[in-house]
Amino acid sequence: MRIWFSQAFPWLRTRPRVPDLVCQQVVELVTDYLEGALSPADQRRFDKHLAGCPHCTEYLAQMRETIRLAGRLTPEDLTPAMRTDLTDLYRQWRAGG
Ligand SMILES: [Zn+2]
Repeated sequence: MRIWFSQAFPWLRTRPRVPDLVCQQVVELVTDYLEGALSPADQRRFDKHLAGCPHCTEYLAQMRETIRLAGRLTPEDLTPAMRTDLTDLYRQWRAGG
């Protein structure tokens, strides 16, 4: 999943000039989180961050919904509208929500 993810969302690989590394780490870990692949320690940190960060909570919800709707998601399943939605969400974050 990680390989196609970076292909489908190349903007996730960019490094925004905001000091919010924690949110950036959440974005990078979200696929592992959804797959239950995080270590218990990472999962705790992830959950703790989500509890205090509405942006990442919204992002995770959108990722869950996207995957639920698509079932087994592949880059070809992503419509341009879905990519735009996710990109817009990410831009909102980078602008400070
Ligand atoms: Zn966050």
